[in-house]
Formats: sequence, structure tokens, C-alpha cells
Amino acid sequence: MQEFSQSFGTAQVFYPEAGDERCTAALLLDVDPIRLVRSRGASSPDFSLGQYVNDRPYAASSLLASAMAEVFRTARAGRCAARPELPEQAIPLEISLPALPCRHGGVELAHRLFEPLGWQVEAAAVPLDEGFPEWGNSRYVRLTLRGEVRLADALNHLYVLLPVLDDAKHYWVASDEVDKLIRAGEGWLAAHPDRGLITRRYLNRRTALTRAALARLAEVGDDLEDALEPPVEEETAEATPDGEAAEGSGGEPTGESDRPTPLNVLRREAVLAALDDVGARTVIDLGCGSGQLVNALLANKTITKIAGVDVSAHALTLAARKLKLDRMSDARRARLDLFQGSLTYGDSRFAGYDAAVLMEVVEHLDPPRLPALERVVFGGAKPGHVIVTTPNAEYNVRYETLTGMRHPDHRFEWTRAEFRHWAAAVAARYGYQVDYRPVGEDDPELGPPTQMAIFTAGGGDV
Ligand code: SAH
Repeated sequence: MQEFSQSFGTAQVFYPEAGDERCTAALLLDVDPIRLVRSRGASSPDFSLGQYVNDRPYAASSLLASAMAEVFRTARAGRCAARPELPEQAIPLEISLPALPCRHGGVELAHRLFEPLGWQVEAAAVPLDEGFPEWGNSRYVRLTLRGEVRLADALNHLYVLLPVLDDAKHYWVASDEVDKLIRAGEGWLAAHPDRGLITRRYLNRRTALTRAALARLAEVGDDLEDALEPPVEEETAEATPDGEAAEGSGGEPTGESDRPTPLNVLRREAVLAALDDVGARTVIDLGCGSGQLVNALLANKTITKIAGVDVSAHALTLAARKLKLDRMSDARRARLDLFQGSLTYGDSRFAGYDAAVLMEVVEHLDPPRLPALERVVFGGAKPGHVIVTTPNAEYNVRYETLTGMRHPDHRFEWTRAEFRHWAAAVAARYGYQVDYRPVGEDDPELGPPTQMAIFTAGGGDV
């Protein structure tokens, strides 16, 4: 048995069964209501009435989500030192929560929130008192989730959705909660049909924060456009006959209409236009992430060869899923190459393309690693054209409540002058010419939200 002390009690983990076939990890959270009140202070927002008498010791509340995040930290981050390949795999999981508070929505809300994430949901309302059926049901639900899911994804689903279902966060929401939400929601939240409700409730209905989070979800892109736009019908025979197309369309959450085109969509369109302008027929997307650009390139028949590269195996798994790689027609599959690779190590597979794209990638590298990327891309792969996009740091003042950078994984964000300084030096060093284009609304003072450079081989000093 393992024990972890929390500011509001003690978390214990034990294993009622642990065999070759199956293992159960039980997390028991012993909440001490007195410590809870003392640690949070009497002014904690949801304890003004029920300071000492409340459901916290008994319910799978947001406190359980915090304890879980700490106790299963490496599992949630997708790390396992002993079996590094295992966290990437979806495994058969069953998760039981005997008393889950489901405020404002009950059993139906539990289905709505977990089912789109691939869980088979079994939810039953817990009666107020079994001896008095006429009293009706409590707002607690006995929940069991079953599915083949990566453990890290499962823990992140719970980490976000327990406080959402509880809808009574035990601590004041600070602005770093937006970072936490974006991290934990990576790969699933942006495309969730109820992402508006989840974000609002997770951030305790603080509208400025919610707006900032939604704007930033759009900013990081992360598949958001799938949830916003009806899927594009393909002209080829491979349009899916199995009703898949219904996913994500319609059912727009209330209060989110009239939304301007998200920046990630504008950015993708700008990159596609630039590729068209330079006449690229073969394209390699370096740091392809979940494959948004690759998807759009596949839809364009004039592009004959497409590669997507990423260092992250998880990103490639998401991309394969999103591109429906296993059901792709042979003709389309033949145009595509998706592989793992790092942009800071020379790789012959990067060579032989008309154009390379680095869309929102350079800012994910530690600055001392940038020269390695420049050598690999401009010096090694040497495509005819390189298209680079990156945030314009000057524009950040326009994002309400944004205190740091736009994404928790960004290592830097450049001003327009810094970007041009870098691009001009790279162009000169490797014999390219460079042009710049704004992406998104070009603010007269701050410039555009995204900046783009188009490099063309054959200029410069070399
Ligand atoms: N181009 C995509 C993803 C941008 S996020 C889009 O615009 O939607 C940045 C991506 O770069 C991540 O998927 C990350 O895994 C990848 N990346 C970061 N460092 C990398 C490296 N050294 N080599 C290859 N990919 C890298």
C-alpha cells in the first residue's frame, strides 16, 4: 500500500488484485473536512455554507481529480521508465467511481461527456436513501467506464471531467488553470461536442478565462476545425459509407455561433495558398502534429507526394487516426508517407520534396537547438521552398488574460523583427531568398497573430 499526503487529507493506493491478466489499482481518498477548511481558508468560494458539513469525504469530487493527478503523475504524462512503449498503447480499461457527483445533468450528462471519448458508459443514479425510495434519487451516480484507451488519456479525461461533473471547484480558479486544461485536454477536448460546457465549468464559469481558453484552443488548432466545420466530402470513391461523417458536425453548443474563422484554419489556408503560389507538387510537413495540413494536402489532387514527420509517436498516432489511415484507398495511401523523425538530426528521408513546411514548429525547439534544425532542413534536405509559420509575440496583448506564451510548450515567441532577423540570416547562410506574409487580421500596430516566411532556394550569399 502506498500513502500520499494531500493538503486536504490522505490518498492511499492499493491493489486488490494484481495478476498477469488483470490488475486493479484502487485509489482511496480520505478527506479531512477540517483540514480542508483550514487549508483553503474560510473564504473558499464553495464553502461559505457547508464549511464542515459537506459531501467531500464521500464523493468522487474535484478533490479526487487533484489527488489522482498527483498520485498517478507519470501515468498521466504517458511515461513509464520500465516499459516505455506501453503508455502509447490503448489498453482495455475499466474505471469505477461509486459516488460521482453529477450536478446539473445527472446520468445523462455522464453519458454525454464520456461517450464521445470512446468510453462505454454504465451510469446509475444513486437513491437518496434505499429505505425511502419515495425520496427519489440523489445527484450522485455510480459510474463504470469501459474501453480500449491509453492510460494517460483515461486519466486526463477524469482529471478534466470530474471537476466538470462536480461543478463546484474546491479552490479558486487561477489563470494557470487554462494551461492545465489545455495540456490535459490535448488531442480530445477541442473536438469534443461539449467542449464549450466542459471549458466553462472547468474554469468555474469565469467568462474571461473561458473565452481565453476557447481562443487558445483555436490557436493551438488541435483538431478544432473538425468540430466547427461539417466534414468536407471527398470527390473520390473513398467517402466513408458508414456514417462517420456525422461525427462532430451540427450540435453547435449555444453561445458559440458567429465565431470568426479560427486562426488555425486561416493558417492552414495561408500555407496551402503559399504552396500553390510556389507550384509545389511534393510536400513534406515537418512537425505535422495531428495531421491537419497533411489531411488538406491529401484532398488536393495536384499534390502527388506528401510526407508528414513528427518526433512525437503520440502525435503520429493521432494523425493516423484522424486520417483514417487503416481505411484509406490504395491510391491515396500511395501518395502519403507518415513517419517518426526528429528535425534536429540529419535524415535522408527529408530530402527530395519541392517544398517543406514548418507550421508552428520552430517555437517548440529550445533556442540552442535551432541551428541544428536549420542545418537539417536548409542545409541537408534542401527543398526548393520552405514555408515557416510562428506566432507573432507582439499580437499577444490582444489575448485577454494571457499572461505567458500562447501554448505551454512554446520555448519562445518572436516579435516581427526577431522573426525577420532569424529568417534573413538563415536565408543568407543557406542560399535562399525570403518573403513574408501576414496570417490573420493584420493589426496596424501589432501586426498579424501569425507570421509566415516563404523561402525560395537560389538567392542569398552562397
Ligand atoms: N504543424 C502542426 C503541429 C504544430 S505543434 C500544426 O500546425 O498543427 C508542433 C509539433 O512539432 C508537435 O507535434 C511536436 O511534436 C513537433 N516537434 C517538436 N519538436 C520537434 C522535433 N525536434 N522534430 C520533429 N518534430 C518536432
